Amino acid sequence: METSPIDAVDPEIAGLVRSEAARQRGVLRLIASENYASAAVLAATGSCLTNKYSEGYPGKRYYGGQVFVDQIERIACARACSLFGADHANVQPYSGSPANLAAYLALLQPGDTMLSMSLPHGGHLTHGWKVTASGTYYRAVQYGVRKDDQRIDFDQVAALAHEHKPKLIVCGASAYPRVIDFARFAEIAQEVGALLLADMAHIAGLVAGGAHPSPVPYADVVSTTTHKTLRGPRGGMLLCKAEHAKAIDRAVFPGLQGGPHDHTTAAIAVALAEAATPGFRDYAAAVVANAAALAEGLLSHGFDLVSGGTDNHLILIDLTNKGVSGKVAAKALEAADIVCNANSVPFDPRKPFDPSGVRLGTAAVTSRGLGTDAMRQIADWIATIVAAPGAANLHAHLGEAVRALTAQHPAPGL
Ligand SMILES: *Cc1c(COP(=O)(O)O)cnc(C)c1O
Repeated sequence: METSPIDAVDPEIAGLVRSEAARQRGVLRLIASENYASAAVLAATGSCLTNKYSEGYPGKRYYGGQVFVDQIERIACARACSLFGADHANVQPYSGSPANLAAYLALLQPGDTMLSMSLPHGGHLTHGWKVTASGTYYRAVQYGVRKDDQRIDFDQVAALAHEHKPKLIVCGASAYPRVIDFARFAEIAQEVGALLLADMAHIAGLVAGGAHPSPVPYADVVSTTTHKTLRGPRGGMLLCKAEHAKAIDRAVFPGLQGGPHDHTTAAIAVALAEAATPGFRDYAAAVVANAAALAEGLLSHGFDLVSGGTDNHLILIDLTNKGVSGKVAAKALEAADIVCNANSVPFDPRKPFDPSGVRLGTAAVTSRGLGTDAMRQIADWIATIVAAPGAANLHAHLGEAVRALTAQHPAPGL
């Protein structure tokens, strides 16, 4: 058994961490927001930088001892600007949600109107959904997808923009399987004098790797997580045009946060170096090719995919025609070591806690080197399991096949 320094202090937690590592090695991880960070990213995350305090920005700190931290944060920002072609980067947001809140703090006054994608149609909670801070302090008007083809309804976006004159239009999603037309959003924002925030949390790795168009030329501010397709540590990042740099920096600190997580900053810098390599472009292309192959396999088994397929890393299955709920399907799949999440589909008649769909993503399985043949195999397994969601013996049997597959593809970082 491999041991870690945790064992000597806390065997209980050490054992659970070991079990989680074994789980991440053994199962097929199809949760669209998850990935495998590299050993280098994990090492930076676990480094001594967790001991440091550095409120402020490089060259303007409120504490001493910043000689190395300043260099690390400057490098992280420079790499972000160079990779994404941005004027300015702030790498301090603790995660995607605070990054969005900081963007609102920089661009809006309380009570101002934003126009954003609704959660049930694929948007994120932090885009003005009622139960969140964004929905409490701002007035959110929300657009969605068309009923017929389940693509973003730009006629509705334009009509709502002209009717409500929002100060900010928010685009970007957590459960939208198609390319987002950032240029079209920018056009509408310009027509009504709104600012544009593009939240690329899910697709940042695809953008970095050239597998999805970039929002950076079109949006005033771009927010992102760093741990989804971008494959960095848990964290957030804001990119913006030069004219918003001061407001964005002030909103993150002191507006919303205290000391930045310097260990995360270092790990973001490492992840951005990885993302600038030719190998990462190959990974991004493979993520999309794998999603397409998985979608094709699922369609051949009669699955109903939201929007009919995918252009990116994620797939939303509407299980209504299979007579199984999303929760039941996700639970049966997990019994066979295929892990995904239940998800609402647009115009879902079912409740969010037990919705009609499941969401699948190919970033993590691509990071461990699975290819399109494996995707077709996975589609076959999913079809078999969803056809018999109560068959525990079958699930256990397929779980053995799943583990035989994952055993051939070592999980990076673990
Ligand atoms: C995941 C996500 C976020 C939030 O990120 P956290 O790191 O979980 O706070 C924000 N926006 C979108 C579109 C996301 O998918």
